[in-house]
Amino acid sequence: MTTTLRSPRHRWSDRTTVVDGTVSGCQETHRRCPQCGLIKITVHPPHGLPWRVWRTAAGAAWQGDRTPPCVAAAAAEAS
Ligand SMILES: [Zn+2]
Repeated sequence: MTTTLRSPRHRWSDRTTVVDGTVSGCQETHRRCPQCGLIKITVHPPHGLPWRVWRTAAGAAWQGDRTPPCVAAAAAEAS
């Protein structure tokens, strides 16, 4: 029995632009993975470069520089 170690890919939805009520206070672009519920957020500040944040399906912020794994896809592949 072998285990393959690779990062399952997210399937990103079409981007949604969010202007009001964002956590960052800036305009944001959100894309959601329907498999695991992770939301990829690009924050667009009025001045300066945009940056990337992540929010899990549970609403928690993801810490780290790398793209979080798609846990739902990983579970599906493991079964
Ligand atoms: Zn995913």
